[in-house]
Amino acid sequence: MNAEILAVGHELLMGEIVDTNSSYIAQQLSGTGITVQWMSHIGDNIDHLSNAFKRGLERSDVVISTGGLGPTSDDLTREAVSNAVGEAMKVDPDILSWLEGVFARRGMEMPPTNIKQATLIPSATSIPNPNGTAPGWWVEKDGKHIVIMPGPPRELKEVWEATVGPKFGEISGSGVTATRTLKTHGLSEGGIDEILSDLFGQDNPYLGIYAHAEGIHLRMIGRGPDQKAAEKIIEPVEAEIRRLIGDSIWGTDDDTPAGRAASILIDRKQTLAVVEGASSGALASMLHVLPEREAFFRGALVPGSGPIHAGHEPATINPDGALTLAHIARKTLSADVGVSVTPVNLDDGNVYIGMASDSGTHVAQGRFPRRNPQWVIQRSATTAIVQLLAALSTDQI
Ligand code: ATP
Repeated sequence: MNAEILAVGHELLMGEIVDTNSSYIAQQLSGTGITVQWMSHIGDNIDHLSNAFKRGLERSDVVISTGGLGPTSDDLTREAVSNAVGEAMKVDPDILSWLEGVFARRGMEMPPTNIKQATLIPSATSIPNPNGTAPGWWVEKDGKHIVIMPGPPRELKEVWEATVGPKFGEISGSGVTATRTLKTHGLSEGGIDEILSDLFGQDNPYLGIYAHAEGIHLRMIGRGPDQKAAEKIIEPVEAEIRRLIGDSIWGTDDDTPAGRAASILIDRKQTLAVVEGASSGALASMLHVLPEREAFFRGALVPGSGPIHAGHEPATINPDGALTLAHIARKTLSADVGVSVTPVNLDDGNVYIGMASDSGTHVAQGRFPRRNPQWVIQRSATTAIVQLLAALSTDQI
């Protein structure tokens, strides 16, 4: 089956938001036998949208869209689908009473503009949206499918997991899907590709490789008649990957480097303090959002233009300076482990990550030629947390 994805919204065309919905859907469909052939971004214009759905129906078996399901006059996805299939929209009493209930629970009266979120066309069934006021539609007409879903990524994910994904599993005959992601550090995409070359290229289980700032992710997708069978399909591939590159795998599925580093520190009954130059507090934010932070995170020093700490000159930007800073963080905030992220060396773009504990010290390096400051902040924080996890996992500190 061929599919196409339409991401709807003027903000996408203005470059104000990045279209993560299309990539999410494409990832979910990969390995199901439903092949994504086209992706488009379309503004909130009724003619452009109607034409996009008409063209989709001509060339694809499945047309999937996100966005434009809100209550305002520029939310036009329903109207466009109604034009494309030639069916009039009508208020559905069941959806209407559900929607009125949503507003009542929020202590509000439903504004009249929201009524259009309670409409359907004859060949559509409603897709429940437990997180918002915009249910989706699943339209089946002449053997083709149009699936329209809300734009907010959290709503989309929920709707997909609860309703849309399983139904596509049935339609494509691919059954139930199980996925597993292994997260690696220290290997390049090309290097992994070479080591695991025998495992790529299969349909079931499918193995995908994705580069992220925190390292390379390997995603396995298995399909089977039920969940257990789908998971069984993945098992031997996971075992083989672990046999070949197990030392480079730091986590699975929803694991984050900060979460993994935290659990090692908590297991060791150690605390952590950081001092941040290039990362300007972004490393502290990664640690601060962890629910377990109070068990290990002592805090962060984020220097401005003055000395890092009374009595210390700002450290020079080299590995020794990085270790000095790591010790300052430990001492100042009474922590077992200190981590520093130095400022960027303006000559060569280097940032040093200093790590120190009673059992050892380690310095890692990242290279961040000055681009936009936000990029440097995020990348240096990610590098620091990944390096900290690597040093903790290998008992270097
Ligand atoms: P609602 O009006 O209920 O919020 P909607 O279906 O009308 O939902 P939009 O108004 O199009 O959705 O988008 C709502 C928000 O969802 C956007 O402001 C944006 O933050 C996010 N969003 C929309 N489309 C995408 C997309 N393709 N990728 C990532 N985020 C998106």
